[in-house]
Amino acid sequence: MNTTTPYIHLPLTPIIHPWVTQFLTLRNTLQQTLQAKGSPLNIHCLRPFEQNMRSYQAVLDRYGIKHRIYFARKANKCLAFANCAAQLGQGVDTASYRELQQCLAIGIPASQLICTAAVKNRKLLELAVGHGVSIVLDNMDEYNLLNEVVADSGRDATVVVRVGGFDKPQNQGRLFSRFGFLPREARRLIVQLEQENRIHYSGLHFHLNGYSVAERVLAIEQSLALSDELAALGIKTPTLDIGGGYLVNYLQNKQELDAFVNELKRAVLGQRPPLTFQNDGLGILNIDEQLYGGPQVYPYYNELSKERFLEAILNSRSTLYGEPIHRLISDRGIELRMEPGRSLLDQAGMTVASVAFRKYDTEGNLLVGLEMNRTQLRSSSADFLLDPIHLTAETEDTLGAQEPHYGYLVGAYCLEQELILKRKIKFLRFPQVGDIVVFPNTAGYMMHFFESEAHLFELAKNLVFDPDKNHLEEDNAIALH
Ligand SMILES: *Cc1c(COP(=O)(O)O)cnc(C)c1O
Repeated sequence: MNTTTPYIHLPLTPIIHPWVTQFLTLRNTLQQTLQAKGSPLNIHCLRPFEQNMRSYQAVLDRYGIKHRIYFARKANKCLAFANCAAQLGQGVDTASYRELQQCLAIGIPASQLICTAAVKNRKLLELAVGHGVSIVLDNMDEYNLLNEVVADSGRDATVVVRVGGFDKPQNQGRLFSRFGFLPREARRLIVQLEQENRIHYSGLHFHLNGYSVAERVLAIEQSLALSDELAALGIKTPTLDIGGGYLVNYLQNKQELDAFVNELKRAVLGQRPPLTFQNDGLGILNIDEQLYGGPQVYPYYNELSKERFLEAILNSRSTLYGEPIHRLISDRGIELRMEPGRSLLDQAGMTVASVAFRKYDTEGNLLVGLEMNRTQLRSSSADFLLDPIHLTAETEDTLGAQEPHYGYLVGAYCLEQELILKRKIKFLRFPQVGDIVVFPNTAGYMMHFFESEAHLFELAKNLVFDPDKNHLEEDNAIALH
């Protein structure tokens, strides 16, 4: 490594919603809440959630598509979002017993709930059947268990059939999935359901991995083709659920992300000082001075995000039918359902943590220790590529007098690799014990999906901020059993 090259920092500037700016001016409230409830804290706000919901609805209304949007709860544990979705007349996609049970406990009607859990045991099926919640059927064992539950309870069940393995164009095989039935298996099952009388078919469902508009279009047109085949047999498909997976845009500009990735490659080749802890390539490997692979990170910059991503799908032309997707849906009068998780939570939460210590590692890197652990800011992405916000405890502005400092944020697990972020962070002032570090836009997956209680650390508290009243309140999802 050429150690004489000066370190040049690459910023990744996040998009910040006005409620975040408003909340961060309440420094005393934040400091006191951290003291009272511990660090880190997850702070949420319903306003962006509502805005995101309304922008999806606006697109669907514009195309005259009957619809219901089910918020995929698994992306965030707070009950406030599930409640908000229901208050807006939409629904909640529940993926476990407790997710469903809590929604029922706060009075969300069964018609606004759907159960998509990947594993559905008898207890969960009994709860769903007992309350008349639609169940997304994934496999024959689940179907057989549901039959038993229906027989034992004496109640009918409503199901949606999950389809997977759609054909790729030009005989290139199928889209891979471990979920659902192949279209022809789904057809056979649905015909069988029609001949029995306790389990009622109410629609088709899919949820695709990845963010390809073209693949969504394939899945929609092939689902509609299946519904047309069923219609020819006299079987009506009232709903089509196209799942979640709508892209989110986290960053203010594309150039910053491109520049970061370029410089990351140079760093991995040893052509510049590291941008990441121990020169981690975030998925890029240097083998004999050749680069392999690419950054294994979420695509943090997206022009086609949220409702624009939905609109791109609806506006695409179906090759199967030679018509735009939106028309195929509206012509059939089918209710379009979707299950966005991450995208409804865009801008709806942040994670804040206290600085516990400053030190240097054996290579002289500044380490800023936070009272949190890396499972509290974690997704399947190799790193969360958004600059955090550093709030200093000092009040007087001496910024001009200081040089920036660069270092890494480390956490509370007893591992050498316990980094909160792998990227090197720029601090405009030298961090002080008691300073606060804010991670914006973490509500979707980042704060909850992988959080663990290793070391018997307590889970972070979840608070909801009301920007109209400048008021913070604890969410009761965890308390409610
Ligand atoms: C995870 C999941 C979702 C939500 O996906 P997002 O990427 O958060 O929008 C919706 N439906 C199903 C079945 C899922 O597994």
